[in-house]
Amino acid sequence: MKGLCILGATGSIGVSTLDVVSRHQDRYKIVALTANGNIDALFQQCLEYKPQYAVVADEDKGKVFKEKIASSKISNIIVLTGAKALEEVATLDQVDSVMAAIVGAAGLLPTLAAAEAGKTVLLANKEALVMSGDILLHAVKKSGAKLLPIDSEHNAIFQCMPAGYETASQAKEVRRILLTASGGPFRETPIEQLDNVTPEQAVAHPNWDMGRKISVDSATMMNKGLELIEACLLFSVPSKKVQVVIHPQSVIHSMVDYVDGTILAQMGNPDMRIPIAHAMAWPERFDSGAEPLDIFAVKHLAFEAPDLQRFPCLSLANQAIDAGGMMPTVLNAANEIAVEAFLQEQIRYTDIPVVIEQCMGKFSPEKADTLEIVLQTNETARNYSREIVQQLRH
Ligand code: NAD
Ligand code: MG
Repeated sequence: MKGLCILGATGSIGVSTLDVVSRHQDRYKIVALTANGNIDALFQQCLEYKPQYAVVADEDKGKVFKEKIASSKISNIIVLTGAKALEEVATLDQVDSVMAAIVGAAGLLPTLAAAEAGKTVLLANKEALVMSGDILLHAVKKSGAKLLPIDSEHNAIFQCMPAGYETASQAKEVRRILLTASGGPFRETPIEQLDNVTPEQAVAHPNWDMGRKISVDSATMMNKGLELIEACLLFSVPSKKVQVVIHPQSVIHSMVDYVDGTILAQMGNPDMRIPIAHAMAWPERFDSGAEPLDIFAVKHLAFEAPDLQRFPCLSLANQAIDAGGMMPTVLNAANEIAVEAFLQEQIRYTDIPVVIEQCMGKFSPEKADTLEIVLQTNETARNYSREIVQQLRH
């Protein structure tokens, strides 16, 4: 039996993870579930999965939750509140694996704590890796932790990479990584109409059902930009070895192109339970609950190069990774603030790349090799971005 802690249990990835766990209760036991503020959903999950610990990051909502648990039939669950408690439960002795599924920078410290404690980290929270760069990877190496990618593209690449790809000799066999993208809801919308896009239109992804932030990122293709940086870090490749490919059917989840002319692709329905179950069972396999792919129904697979004029966020991510140092941290911070402002209808959809570009312009690509620098850069970039949002506010 493995002990599992789910950071961000009430989100889209958290719920899919619990669905997979419910099929394998002989292999996984839930030690801890965490949420930010959705205490009703967390309470229902506690009733069903009876974790030892439940954490509410928001202190005020945490107080209400504590009372609710105390007066219920599951009063033996230990309730902790506040951001520090996320790190506490991610490093408990009885936890073997941590699903890192908090959205955004808020997930960095608990994910890093799990890595430092030598846990198996199932990484969905791409922002944590993008902003901390090699720091998280070093922590994994130093403690002997395992890092398994949950992001569907990176999980696909992981499945298609040669055994021992971490070593330089194996890396020479790989010509390119082909990182697939659906192109999101606005792949064919006339560019002049993008100014008027609403949050509801932006979060309505054609193929995947996800949280609001990543859905907007998919529409702008910043999601692919963050994933490009994620791929370079996870698979130790330079950005010129990663080609973004628009593949609207979302059936191939990414490919690895080898020097002998072979391309290996991982295929399946767009259902996050597939990469989640892959990482949870690895190196074995077990049922994910996903429907098998009906390849006869798919019929055709299409591939196109991305249009950088339509998707300026993809160019900004390219610039950030090529500049290196603190730029990916700045890119991520500015994007988080811009997306939030767009979702609150403070700025237009097309202002998102404007905020990011202006914010990046305020930084030079200095080294970001300590956690203190990363956290400081993240704060400064968020403050700059808030100022830019104020200027753009309509
Ligand atoms: P979501 O918005 O549905 O859920 C986010 C979770 O994080 C919730 O449980 C929420 O309570 C928690 N959370 C938010 N802010 C927090 C804070 N300040 N402190 C503590 N907890 C906080 O998001 P999601 O779609 O499940 O995505 C989660 C992560 O996985 C993101 O990094 C996303 O990029 C990545 N991811 C998601 C998908 C997907 O299909 N949803 C696919 C690939 C990668
Ligand atoms: Mg993805």
